[in-house]
Amino acid sequence: MSGLSQTELEKQLIEYRHDFHEYPELANHEFKTTAKIKAILQAWGIKILPTKLKTGVFAEIGLEAKPLIALRADIDALPINEESGVPFSSKTPNIMHACGHDTHIAALLGAAYLLKQEEADLPGRIRLIFQLSEEDQEGALQVIDDGQLTDVQAILGFHNAPQHEVGTIGIKAGITSGAIDKFKVTLQGVGTHASAPQNGKDPIVALGAEITALQTIVSRNLDPFATGVLSITHVNAGNTWNVLPEQAFFEGTVRTANKEVRQQIKQRFFETVEYTAKAQQVSAEIDWYDGDPSVDNDAKLTALVQEETEKFAPTYVQQPKLGSDDFACYQALIPGVYVNIGNGGSASAHNPHFTADDKLIIVGAQFFEKNARRWLAELAD
Ligand SMILES: [Zn+2]
Ligand SMILES: [Zn+2]
Repeated sequence: MSGLSQTELEKQLIEYRHDFHEYPELANHEFKTTAKIKAILQAWGIKILPTKLKTGVFAEIGLEAKPLIALRADIDALPINEESGVPFSSKTPNIMHACGHDTHIAALLGAAYLLKQEEADLPGRIRLIFQLSEEDQEGALQVIDDGQLTDVQAILGFHNAPQHEVGTIGIKAGITSGAIDKFKVTLQGVGTHASAPQNGKDPIVALGAEITALQTIVSRNLDPFATGVLSITHVNAGNTWNVLPEQAFFEGTVRTANKEVRQQIKQRFFETVEYTAKAQQVSAEIDWYDGDPSVDNDAKLTALVQEETEKFAPTYVQQPKLGSDDFACYQALIPGVYVNIGNGGSASAHNPHFTADDKLIIVGAQFFEKNARRWLAELAD
């Protein structure tokens, strides 16, 4: 492998990024993206690991068996029609890298190149995870099921951040994103004539009581300093003016910042729905979906990242948000750190005008490379 200068490598990574951007693919359909990543890594002599997954690439660098750490980039795009106006805009209508995962791919490729050149000196192994399907919150779980996290001691990832100066790195220990849970509830009553409610059990009045009662969980049960929100976003019942229906339905979501509050809201949700239904003489069927947990950065590893990153890039304190990233699924199993890297763009992620400055790519590559070396050195001691 011929040694590229940093300028040459950056130029190459930007070309790769523009190509990924022009040909975006949706979650679980990242076939061409997968083939391209594999081809680039193979051309650099990097070992590709076997996988049962149809998309995503797993590779490894390093000759010493232990320690083993992982670097993760997500690779999928979104069903959005690009309106950014950049010269390398999506060539596929209605699909766009509007979350900047194309920059994550390019940065991890850059790190792979740099680390491969240092392979003989690395005191351990680095697993590269080019993760499929982040946007539909399935990819990390598929990667874990596929065994790609086996023996990995720590994991590092980043997301590009609009509204932050390009190349500045946002770091924070502890929780930086929300856990996302979802619920659906069906209330079963007894239908009757609207003029004779005494002959039925009205699920619509019960629905109203449920909505009111559920709003007391955050306002009356949570510590006012705790973070949580419960939103009912869709209700449905009945279909005409003179019939009290058999059923009423509602669904919505709960977002929380820590495990205890998450558990507390879930418990109170079940109690409230069931007892309110009982009081209204209807029955309730609850479907609860535990979504991704919070991104929760390991304190010790975050301190190392802070120290190492400050040596080459300006840093800032990352503000927690209730949005999510399925990187959190890895952190539920092993310690990890997930940071933000400013992308210099103004439109938010998932917006058709979203842009990310190419300059963040080489910073992302260095961020991965330098911190991977540091973690290996610390863990090897
Ligand atoms: Zn996204
Ligand atoms: Zn994203």
